[in-house]
Amino acid sequence: MSLQERIEQVEQRIQVAARNAGRKREEITLVAVTKKFPAEVMREAYNLGLRVFGENYVQEFATKNPALADLADAEFHLIGHLQSNKTKIALDLFKTIQTVDSAKLARRLNETTRPLDVMIEVKLSEEESKEGAAPEELPALIDAIRACENLRLTGLMTMPPWSDDPAETRPYFRRLAMLARQYGLPRLSMGMSHDLEAAIEEGSTHVRVGTALFGARPKP
Ligand SMILES: *Cc1c(COP(=O)(O)O)cnc(C)c1O
Repeated sequence: MSLQERIEQVEQRIQVAARNAGRKREEITLVAVTKKFPAEVMREAYNLGLRVFGENYVQEFATKNPALADLADAEFHLIGHLQSNKTKIALDLFKTIQTVDSAKLARRLNETTRPLDVMIEVKLSEEESKEGAAPEELPALIDAIRACENLRLTGLMTMPPWSDDPAETRPYFRRLAMLARQYGLPRLSMGMSHDLEAAIEEGSTHVRVGTALFGARPKP
């Protein structure tokens, strides 16, 4: 299948899910996840109409970004963990950092000279390896971010424990949506290739889709 056909397929899935949930298609942003794919693939996706891209690794995107500098209306989001020693480079590269999970990181990002959109990555399971702030840490972290004049807190992001059964990830989506409502945050980044329908039904505003658009990621 061509990239164009896969984009159409994903678009179709988003539209059907939005309709089933009684939501408008425009409420949902497709974030094309391009980790491990070269800049040429991103350009091809751009030429086919995609505008929002999610990258996991600051260093990797730093090497791809120069080849994409002319895509003026493309928007890049960091969706992978950000180490505090990489905040300076990240600020030059990304419009949105979806993975803020500590006040220390927020304060570092605030040392920018321009407004930056941020989301909080929330850890909703006990999995050791997962990054993210625990739900009970949210009130203090939200206060800390809102005290940063250059940061605009737009929402919450989460990555549930892997399961190929959307019925297992749905409760995590529901929980994230509840938390966002509780704290008055409009955006919800949740849902990936295999469970974007469940995420949209639970209120997702940003689905992060890699494999369904670009196929299996190249092995390094
Ligand atoms: C890789 C990745 C995705 C995309 O996953 P697919 O299953 O390929 O759609 C989404 N979100 C994050 C945080 C990722 O690291």
